[in-house]
Amino acid sequence: MQTDLMNKLNSTDKGEDALVVVHGGAGNIKLEYLPKEKLERVEADLTRSLTNAFNLLKKGASAIEAVAAAVTVLEDAEMFNAGRGSCLNELGKVEMDASIMNGANLEAGGVACISNVKNPVLLAKAVMEHSNAVLLVGEGAELFAENMTKVIGLELAANEYFATPEALSELKRFQERGSMPQNALSTGSSQGEKYGTVGACARDLSGNVAAATSTGGLIGKLKGRVGDSPLVGAGVYADNQTCAVSTTGFGESFIRVVLAHEVSSLVRHAGKTLAEAAVEAIHSVLSRSNGKGGLISINSQGDYALPFNTQGMYRGVITASGEVQISIS
Ligand code: ASP
Repeated sequence: MQTDLMNKLNSTDKGEDALVVVHGGAGNIKLEYLPKEKLERVEADLTRSLTNAFNLLKKGASAIEAVAAAVTVLEDAEMFNAGRGSCLNELGKVEMDASIMNGANLEAGGVACISNVKNPVLLAKAVMEHSNAVLLVGEGAELFAENMTKVIGLELAANEYFATPEALSELKRFQERGSMPQNALSTGSSQGEKYGTVGACARDLSGNVAAATSTGGLIGKLKGRVGDSPLVGAGVYADNQTCAVSTTGFGESFIRVVLAHEVSSLVRHAGKTLAEAAVEAIHSVLSRSNGKGGLISINSQGDYALPFNTQGMYRGVITASGEVQISIS
C-alpha cells in the first residue's frame, strides 16, 4: 500500500471493472500532525473499507451494496465522525445523518437526527428499499429503524455505544472554548487528532454508480440540526449519466450551493469532464458560500476526482488491478 499518493487531484481508471473511492473527512489536517499510531489506524480502516467493497463488486454485487459496505466499515471504526466515534451535539447526545443514492435509477434514501442505529447508512438504504420515502428524520426514522430490525436484521445501539471517551472530551473542550459548532476536523487545539464524516462512491461491473455519506455532524451542534450529508443533491448524488458524489465539510455551505448535484450539473449542462466539474465545484462554486471541505466522485467510465480546499482530506481509491492508494494532505 502506498500512503502519500494522489497528490494529483484526479486520475482515470478506464475499463469495465470495479472501482471504489472513499473519504474519511476533510479539514484542518496535515500528515505531520498525525501520531504514527493514528495514521496507521486510519490507513488500515480506509484500506479495509475499500477492499471489502471491491471484493463484493468482484463477486458481482451492485454499486449500492458496495458503497453501503464501504461506509459500514468506517462507521464501525471509531476513528471517524460517523457511527461509533460520532461527535456529540450541545446536549452530549449523538444525532447522526446518512444517505445513499443509486445512479442506475435515481433511487435514494436518507436519515437525519437518529441516535439509535449502529450503522446509519444501512437505515438510509432501508429507507430507499423498504419505504416510499426518500428522507426520514428523528423519532419517525428511529421507529422505522425498530421495524427494520425484524425486516433486515438492522442492529440498534444506545448513546453509550457512540459517545466514546474521545467524543465526550472533545465536546467538553469545545464547550470550554465557547465557539460555534465545528467540522470535527477543524476544531483547533488538537490538530490532526480528529477525523471526519465518511463517504464512498463505487462503480460496479455493469457500469452502474452509487454514492453514500454518513456523519455525526458538527461538534456541539444544536439539537435537531441537519447537515448536508443526508440531503440528496447537497451531500450525496448519483446518476449513471453523469457521476456519483459524496461530500464532506461544513454542511451549511454545501447545502446553500447544493454542491453534490452541482458536479453532476456541470457535467450534464456545461459539458465538463468529471475532473473539471469536481474541481470547479470545490474551488469555485463552494467558495461562493465560503465553504470549506472536499468531495469524492466517480463516473461510469471509470474516471474519479477527489478535490478539496482544506489542508487535507482522508481519501483512498482501489482501482481495477486491486491496488489501494491512500492519501491525506
Ligand atoms: N458535512 C458534515 C456536516 O456538516 C460534517 C463533515 O463533513 O465533517 O454535518
